[in-house]
Amino acid sequence: MQTLEALARDACALANGDVVLSAPETEVARQLQICNACRYCEGFCAVFPAMTRRLEFGKADIHFIANLCHNCGACLHACQYAPPHEFAVNIPQAMAQVRGQTYADYAWPPALGQLYQRNGLTLALALVAGLTLFLLLAVALHGQGLAALWHAPVGGFYGIFPHNLLVGLFAPVFLFTVLALGLGVRRFWRDITPATSGAPLSAPATAEATDAVLRLKYLDGGHGDGCHNEDDAYTLSRRRMHHLTFYGFMLCFAATSVATLYHYLPALPAPYDLPSLPKLLGGVGGISLAIGTAGLWRLNLRRHPQHGDAAQKPMDRAFIALLFLTATSGLALWGARGSAALPLLLCLHLGAVMALFATMPYGKFAHGIFRTASLLRHAVEKRQPHPIGLSAD
Ligand code: SF4
Ligand code: SF4
Repeated sequence: MQTLEALARDACALANGDVVLSAPETEVARQLQICNACRYCEGFCAVFPAMTRRLEFGKADIHFIANLCHNCGACLHACQYAPPHEFAVNIPQAMAQVRGQTYADYAWPPALGQLYQRNGLTLALALVAGLTLFLLLAVALHGQGLAALWHAPVGGFYGIFPHNLLVGLFAPVFLFTVLALGLGVRRFWRDITPATSGAPLSAPATAEATDAVLRLKYLDGGHGDGCHNEDDAYTLSRRRMHHLTFYGFMLCFAATSVATLYHYLPALPAPYDLPSLPKLLGGVGGISLAIGTAGLWRLNLRRHPQHGDAAQKPMDRAFIALLFLTATSGLALWGARGSAALPLLLCLHLGAVMALFATMPYGKFAHGIFRTASLLRHAVEKRQPHPIGLSAD
């Protein structure tokens, strides 16, 4: 009966030229109607203030609001209408399902959107193994057979792979990643902008959204005690592990960027040793990234089964595993200067980094990009006059 009703609704919508909602979007719209009448969770995060500005939820509204949610679980544990109640309100799960759909729908090129469903731990590890093997073969063929894999090269790792060859290998992958993510989020931005007042970005809105992103403001639960993981107890672990991961990644990225810059300065040729800036940034960043991702992995294994979308767990774990492998192989390389293990460790590290960047546009990294875009639009929208006038932001 329900299916017939849904089909009739879709047929009317198509006849009127309206955009038809997918099943996960329809479910978010249904739950938000209940929340809009209840409003108990108004202070928890950005989702609820954004919701109160609307009486109807179109496709773009749902995409915008779903990407404001970061699955902290607070509204599920607070909800009197959560399962087993017949209303079956589970906002984190419904939002996560729509987020997964938006990543695939806005992927560039569109044909590769399917990769989100296939991006799991097995694929990630197979990619690292394949790339590592390819690099090991290249070293063996270029050197003196297998002996080339176990010796201390002159000139550090640039003695194995010259700098320009590394740039030639990694620059296309990196540029493609930036292009794919950039074009995907641009389409998302264009769709949600009219639904979020259409007003342009302002400096105060940008500053507020940047602050929310950099501090992971909403992972404090709105009261500072944290969010939820395996049960209804508050924890700050998720916020801390996200911070260690994010800033660790940024420090590692800074280490590579500074080393590239140094490489072209005549007075600062590679390789670098302590206490050089690339070495320090890489060491601190690698330790932070390794601890953060180990913590996120542990939290992910213990996560409450009703939080989020179980179908996306393989994608989440693949991203965490790739970051962890990148960090730990980088740290091993960091300490292996002048050792015979350098060629093996270098190939493993480069394989992990390349797999990480190659899968970035079609994996969990998209969450950070789309969420930032939604937070920016939220910061803009909340500065506009309230369209309904029932609640102040
Ligand atoms: S999640 Fe539940 S408690 Fe929170 S606003 Fe929605 S209906 Fe109310
Ligand atoms: S799960 Fe957390 S972030 Fe998502 S809507 Fe609920 S309270 Fe907000």
